[in-house]
Amino acid sequence: MITDVVNTNELKKADPVFGQYSFDDHEQVIFCNDKDTGLKAIIGIHNTVLGPALGGTRMWQYSSEWEALNDVLRLSRGMTFKSAITGLNLGGGKAVIIGDAKTQKTPELMLKFGEFVHSLNGKYITAEDVGMETSDMDLVRTVTPYVTGISEDKGGAGNPSPITAYGVFMGMKAAAKYAFGSDHLEDRTVFVQGIGNVGEALVENLTNEGAKIFIADINQEQLERVRDKYGVNIYGGENLYTEDMDIYAPCALGATINDETVYQLKAKVIAGAANNQLANENVHGAILRERGIVYAPDFLINAGGIINVYAELENYGKQEIIRKTENIYNTTLEILQNAEENNITTHRAAFDIAQKRIDSRKKEK
Ligand code: NAD
Repeated sequence: MITDVVNTNELKKADPVFGQYSFDDHEQVIFCNDKDTGLKAIIGIHNTVLGPALGGTRMWQYSSEWEALNDVLRLSRGMTFKSAITGLNLGGGKAVIIGDAKTQKTPELMLKFGEFVHSLNGKYITAEDVGMETSDMDLVRTVTPYVTGISEDKGGAGNPSPITAYGVFMGMKAAAKYAFGSDHLEDRTVFVQGIGNVGEALVENLTNEGAKIFIADINQEQLERVRDKYGVNIYGGENLYTEDMDIYAPCALGATINDETVYQLKAKVIAGAANNQLANENVHGAILRERGIVYAPDFLINAGGIINVYAELENYGKQEIIRKTENIYNTTLEILQNAEENNITTHRAAFDIAQKRIDSRKKEK
């Protein structure tokens, strides 16, 4: 199983919250517990300098509370930089609910979660992430206005995943332009790992462009359905990292670029939707750079979803959503060039621009 975790045993040695490996000056961490519904959730509010902390809720069967805490801390921090680099007036936050979304997600549990979100008075605004559907957000909306990603027929901007996929596609094209000299993906070999909400929509974009697509997922039914729908190949090997490919698109969970895979990977470009793809952004970002693999920073190219849900707060329409999402192409190209000019990793280049925006807003305050 892929998780956004570095090393659970290492995590246990640290102090419970402030001493966590992933704790990065988070403003607030809220533990939510409700015996009646079985809700166990953690809300991480990383930074609210640019605006309220907006980020989705993930429901996942974590192997330990440490793993859940680490995940929410890494994800909420990532949201701060994603919104900052995208130019949105939002801070970074995220929530995790511990449990199996297929068997333990009940309306009562979601409503209770919504009440906890409401108790933060808008400092944290939720949306969907892995294990959540638009209908879950509609339910949460009945107990709090601090939720986005609700259905279009209820006044929301709808499922953000197709827009996320479109932004990833734009970022991938920019990275291809940088790496291969052309952004045409026709006949490029692309491995899409994880063909859920975003991965499948990315496969659709790539199919329209004529790419040679291989898909991988732990869900066999989903694999066969997507293969039949788009005429793509199911990857049947043991270790996709060692396969010859032009582009690796991680669209499952995070930390797939780690100590082991970072040396195995044969792709020339990494561009995908998953959050926190680098297990350690400094270490693995530097190795990718040394190996000449172009990494399109995840928090930059997967921002389509947040652009989509932000529309609900700012009241802009589909056209503006598409315009902002297409701009991911330009920003990605600029970041890749900036990294080369300054001899730094692409992750660092993106991060520094985001941090600068936060710092200058802080000074204005
Ligand atoms: P999803 O739950 O719909 O899909 C995830 C897919 O990954 C599932 O099909 C699952 O079976 C598969 N998967 C899980 N473990 C795997 C493994 N070890 N190997 C291969 N496949 C595996 O989630 P999603 O909404 O498509 O999001 C995918 C990723 O993109 C997540 O990391 C999410 O945080 C990130 N993301 C999503 C959005 C969005 O708008 N949905 C926005 C930004 C980032």
